[in-house]
Amino acid sequence: MHTKIHPASHVQIGWVIAADVRDPHILQAYKVASERLQTTLTEQFPQFVWEVVYVHRHRYAPKGALNPLPLLELGTQEKIHNGWDYALVVVPNDLEPRDRILTIGVPSSALETAVLSSAHLGHAGQLADRLVGLALHLLGHLWGLEHETEGPMHPPENPTDLTITQFPAPQKTIVIDRLEEVADKRLEEQSQQWHWIIFQWRAFRADSRSILVDILGYSPWLLPFQMGRLTAATAVSLVFLLLAAESWEIGVNIPPTGLLMGTIIAILLATFFIFTGQNLGQISREIGWREQLSRTRIVVFGTLLLGMVALWFVLFVVSFLVASILPNGIVAGWVGQNKLDSRLLINHAAFMAIIGVLAGALGGNLEDEDEIKAELFYDEET
Ligand SMILES: [Zn+2]
Repeated sequence: MHTKIHPASHVQIGWVIAADVRDPHILQAYKVASERLQTTLTEQFPQFVWEVVYVHRHRYAPKGALNPLPLLELGTQEKIHNGWDYALVVVPNDLEPRDRILTIGVPSSALETAVLSSAHLGHAGQLADRLVGLALHLLGHLWGLEHETEGPMHPPENPTDLTITQFPAPQKTIVIDRLEEVADKRLEEQSQQWHWIIFQWRAFRADSRSILVDILGYSPWLLPFQMGRLTAATAVSLVFLLLAAESWEIGVNIPPTGLLMGTIIAILLATFFIFTGQNLGQISREIGWREQLSRTRIVVFGTLLLGMVALWFVLFVVSFLVASILPNGIVAGWVGQNKLDSRLLINHAAFMAIIGVLAGALGGNLEDEDEIKAELFYDEET
């Protein structure tokens, strides 16, 4: 491990050029931008010692559009390897957009890393300042700031509008709080001998509030709707089960405690399955349990966990509604009763939701890995 321990008030940002850029004007602008970013942050947040570390990795050809995900992963690896607090990955290439027509940057507060494209920021003269303006906007997202009508958090409608501006006072306060919290509570590197769970728990305790804010920021309850194939897999399995007499027989006969246990186990299993199956926990394999990486893992795991709880709830409601409109007499006949009361319908709906969550986990693993990662890691496309 090459991680350095630096004083609490010290904030290090890696400025990683990820493409094989040869144009001396562009390289010069990148260098100037890194220095200007350091100066700007020092002026705006003098309570911290800022260091922007310039690094050139010739990983990609400087032509064609790049997928931001591998760039985020590259930045995260560099960040952890070098012990930086944040990483900004800069490329001259276009970025492949997902939802927007054009994207010039992708911040990921989960990874504490952002990607910047200089493709639409013009040439030489203003390039450096615009890059700094974009870097401030993306750092703002990494620090949990919302969009504002003025200052760096004003969404850049046009890439050429970007300039260096001051964060408004209320946002400065948020940033300072956030940075102090992170600095205060960063765990020491004495973790190797600790048990895995204890370490994750300590990492969570150390920073629980901002971890929870991050998790909720992903709106995990929308996850079932964002993962098309996962939801389709569950829907198919449920339609078959709702029309199968056996499923009714089992469903109405499991005691509530059994259903509760089943629900907890299914949600945990599904979360573990998607988490490991998607390599979401392996963003950076060889690094060990560093606190920052742990934090990222916890945020991703927590988001998936709440996503699975949401999936269970959605399936429960759907099963209950569908079961209520099935002819009561026929279904009651399947389970050897005269009439199905709502308690039995609830029982069965819970059983269906358990099966659905497990089926969904299988479907989720078929999902394009990039889809889920982008869903979890992108704060936005700038
Ligand atoms: Zn933004």
